Amino acid sequence: MAKAAVGVELGFVKQSAPWKLRSKFFPSKVGGWPAWLRLNNLPDKSIIICKGCDKPLLFLLQVYSPVKEIKSALHRTIFLFLCSNRKCKRFNQNFVAFRNQLPRQNEFYSYKEPKYIEKTSSDPSAEDYQPLCCVCGCAASIKCTQCSQTDYCSEDHRDCDWKWNHQRVCGKNCTEARAKQKGTTNQFLLPEYELRTETEKLPSTRPEKSDDEKMKEYREFMQSAKAPKEMQDMPLDDLDTVMNINDKVFNKFQKRIKLKPKQVLRYNRGGTPLWVSAEHVPSPKDIPDCECGAKRVFEFQVMPQLLNYLSLDSVDDSIDWGTLAVYTCSQSCEKGVEGYVKEFVWKQDFSD
Ligand SMILES: [Zn+2]
Ligand SMILES: [Zn+2]
Ligand SMILES: [Zn+2]
Ligand SMILES: [Zn+2]
Repeated sequence: MAKAAVGVELGFVKQSAPWKLRSKFFPSKVGGWPAWLRLNNLPDKSIIICKGCDKPLLFLLQVYSPVKEIKSALHRTIFLFLCSNRKCKRFNQNFVAFRNQLPRQNEFYSYKEPKYIEKTSSDPSAEDYQPLCCVCGCAASIKCTQCSQTDYCSEDHRDCDWKWNHQRVCGKNCTEARAKQKGTTNQFLLPEYELRTETEKLPSTRPEKSDDEKMKEYREFMQSAKAPKEMQDMPLDDLDTVMNINDKVFNKFQKRIKLKPKQVLRYNRGGTPLWVSAEHVPSPKDIPDCECGAKRVFEFQVMPQLLNYLSLDSVDDSIDWGTLAVYTCSQSCEKGVEGYVKEFVWKQDFSD
């Protein structure tokens, strides 16, 4: 079993120069292209395409999280993807996590700490090992049928790119255009940020708040950030009733995040997630074991605050979550060394 972590590491988004977020520097990051850890054996088409709609999944974030006690996991990254297709029958439900890890001595990276130099930031790159989709940076399996020079993960990204950009440059200066486009954010990706962490500090004594104060905070929260739309529109008197049902769990959630309201991630391998609601909390049997037979443990959760940075929520029917809890193999098994193994994501919504 994994040791229960002592404290919670909180994640915050920061603007960063894109070159600092390349594979070489083992970043934790949101959006843009994935910065692959293992540079070959990337997740293949069969798993990077949503089963509900046959469109490529969208990269959400990655968390660099080595496990010091396990030699083969001295580099280790968890990647999180989702289906963002509004027409998909699994829209807002399909979240997929992959784990990949490497020993410190490995075929891709220097044993020594990387130097932060922009010029050499892109080597080594996953592109040295296989073609990458010029839209999303996942492993490519097809090419532009006109010029046969530009690579795509799927027909979908080929068609998107054709309309957006490629038809104007196809066959002309493909190589140049491709180099320009590579790894940069585009309209099909989420905005790119660095994820920086700091240890959560809890006040040693927390004076109990009066019910009135709690209610006031709850109302403020509900009317501000990421409360579901229906609840924002609810008359305040109805909120009192809702509060009575789910107040304890939500109160705890809200109190805890208020200490650092901009947290977008809580990392606590072997710990317990901070649930936003008493409803739809998984029991141990809801969390499937790893392929290797070991139990999975909670590793980190994505907070609803992240939605504020993703420009996803401009339309009514958009992606949201109360929290996304990611569970990974307690042994961080070797299956994660050879390739990208699927782990487990539990989505909890705000209660209605
Ligand atoms: Zn889908
Ligand atoms: Zn793609
Ligand atoms: Zn072309
Ligand atoms: Zn395992």
